[in-house]
Amino acid sequence: MAIERTFSMIKPDATKRNLTGAITKMLEDAGLRVVASKRVWMSRREAEGFYAVHKDRPFFGELVEGMTSGPTIVQVLEGEGAILKNREIMGATNPANADEGTIRKVHALSIGENSVHGSDAPETAAQEIKYWFSDTEIVG
Ligand code: UDP
Repeated sequence: MAIERTFSMIKPDATKRNLTGAITKMLEDAGLRVVASKRVWMSRREAEGFYAVHKDRPFFGELVEGMTSGPTIVQVLEGEGAILKNREIMGATNPANADEGTIRKVHALSIGENSVHGSDAPETAAQEIKYWFSDTEIVG
C-alpha cells in the first residue's frame, strides 16, 4: 500500500479533557506519524467553512458550536494507507457503534462530541490539509 497523508483533528471535547497525548498515542500506535500539528481555536467562519458540506444538515449549528467551544489540535498524519488506517482507529461516528479499542469507543462522549475527525478519501484529505496547513508547515 502507498504512503499517504491524511488530515486529523482532536476536537474540543477531547482537548478540554486533556486527551491530546492519549489520542495522539493511539494514532502513533496504529502506525501513523504526525508530520504537522498545531493547536487552534477555530473561529465560527473557519468551522463553517471546514464543515460546509454539512451546512444543510440538522446538526450543523450544534457541530459549529462544539468546534468553536475550545481548542482543536489539527494534524497531518502520514503512513501506509493512512486515510483508511486513521478511519479504522477513529471508529464509527456514533461511539455507541464504534468497535472496541477505537478512539471513539474509548474516549468519545456522544455522536456530537466524538473527539476526533479524519478525512474520508484522498480528495478530502488533500482539501482539508490545505485548509489548515501551508506546505512548509508539513515536515515528513
Ligand atoms: N455529527 C453530529 N450528528 C450527526 C452526524 C454527525 O453531530 O447525526 C457531527 C459529528 O461530530 C461528526 C461530524 O458531524 O463527526 C461530521 O459528520 P460525518 O458524517 O462526516 O462523520 P465523521 O466523518 O466525522 O465520522
